[in-house]
Amino acid sequence: MSRLELPAAGAGRDEIFTTLQAMKARDLDVRDGRLFAYVYEPGAEVDAVRKDAYRLFLTENGLDPTAFPSLLRLENDLIAISLSHLNAPEGAVGSFTSGGTESILMAVKAARDRARSTGAVARRGEGNIVMPVTAHAAFHKAASYFDLDVRLVEVSPETCRVTEQAMAEAIDDETVLIIASSPQYAQGVCDPIPAIGRLALERELPLHVDACVGGWLLPYWARLGADVTEFDFTVPGVTSISMDLHKYAFCAKGASVVLYKDASFRDHQVFACASWTGYTVVNQTAQSSKTGGPLASAWATLHLIGDEGYLTIARQLKAATARLVKGVQAIGDLELVAAPDMCMFSFRSEAVSVFHLIDEMKVRGWHIQAQLSTGDHPANVHVSLHPGNLGREEAFLADLALAYEAAKSLPTGMLVNAMGDLLSSLAETDRESAGLDFGGLMAMSGISADSLPERMASINELLDVLPVDANEGLIKQFFAELFVPSRAPSAGGERT
Ligand SMILES: *Cc1c(COP(=O)(O)O)cnc(C)c1O
Repeated sequence: MSRLELPAAGAGRDEIFTTLQAMKARDLDVRDGRLFAYVYEPGAEVDAVRKDAYRLFLTENGLDPTAFPSLLRLENDLIAISLSHLNAPEGAVGSFTSGGTESILMAVKAARDRARSTGAVARRGEGNIVMPVTAHAAFHKAASYFDLDVRLVEVSPETCRVTEQAMAEAIDDETVLIIASSPQYAQGVCDPIPAIGRLALERELPLHVDACVGGWLLPYWARLGADVTEFDFTVPGVTSISMDLHKYAFCAKGASVVLYKDASFRDHQVFACASWTGYTVVNQTAQSSKTGGPLASAWATLHLIGDEGYLTIARQLKAATARLVKGVQAIGDLELVAAPDMCMFSFRSEAVSVFHLIDEMKVRGWHIQAQLSTGDHPANVHVSLHPGNLGREEAFLADLALAYEAAKSLPTGMLVNAMGDLLSSLAETDRESAGLDFGGLMAMSGISADSLPERMASINELLDVLPVDANEGLIKQFFAELFVPSRAPSAGGERT
């Protein structure tokens, strides 16, 4: 079989869409309301509008806002609305980005380059960021991209919140940024931003609040009477905030903002280049040429739903979360990892394997997310609610109770036991150099590039007991096997 090539003759529109639709057949169903991760579905009406707006601006190029003033206007509107939403003072600025990760990359880069510009951290290879273990993986990515060390701070095992004392101990002369979340994704818990803000002021360090997942809806939670720890620009010490519009503002994917209280921070984010033979480049963010689709789509979504619309959605999600949190704790020994501050939470069990529980829910048509153990935190299950889930609470809980019973009788540790020798050698020898027999492992677990096993429990169990670097190495190899160039269909046969 040879590698796929461009067809000689172009295909018809119908044929193309038939093929594209067919490709979706094995995807999770984003409309079904049984998905508690990945999507934030606002319903058919909003979806139609955000798609139309996206299409309307698909072709415009954000590379040069002087050529497409509409895109400049859309971005400035979105940044103004976002700054107002988070009570930023006059003089605050921001940028529209493709997602939380890009917002975070930009905030970390700006902080690093600012520290270098003041001489606080002079050389390449110097500098660190200080953050709780609950901070998003995107900060590890930023540190890796921008050559910074990560100083991780443990959180309380009961509340999953970090304390300012623990943060204070991790700060040193090379720290360029301190980070906390409102809320962090895994348990939906807000860090004590006011206390960390005081620490930031005392140490004269910038503080980034990662409000990617919660920044948009938390203010509504507060308006509905919830006790929300302050996290916005009114908190002294907060210098930047990331907030995703493509999560709980229900915009199409590719929409986030990074906001700075003081415009001088953004100067360190922007890149300009006149030292090549082409057009002069000025990029606000990591992207250069970019579609106007996400901008227009986000603008349309925010204006369509409006303040009252978001308040209504928040009220519904808050009630549904309360119901689920109560219902989950009534099943067997299931317990919350920590009390959540928004509409995402996680739970664990000592009596049953959470990985089996997830598989058993999958058999019943529900998708919930595995979170592996880290440090003192045992493996657990994550649930994020979105409007598409509303009305499914009782059905979800009924099936969770059944899944719990079914999970009880399933054997655990099969793959882990089968791999026993390899695992102990990993524990004893240099972990990084200990090679895993990846092919053998894939075969043993029933994985191939085009078929994932229905049940993931044994694989999750294995990942859960592996040392972090072996785990990361394994999943990288696994994805390397998935991302292989397509083969041409065999003569007469269909591509699968
Ligand atoms: C989702 C998320 C991110 C990363 O955002 P992406 O849009 O997936 O790149 C960062 N921080 C938190 C708290 C998140 O929930």
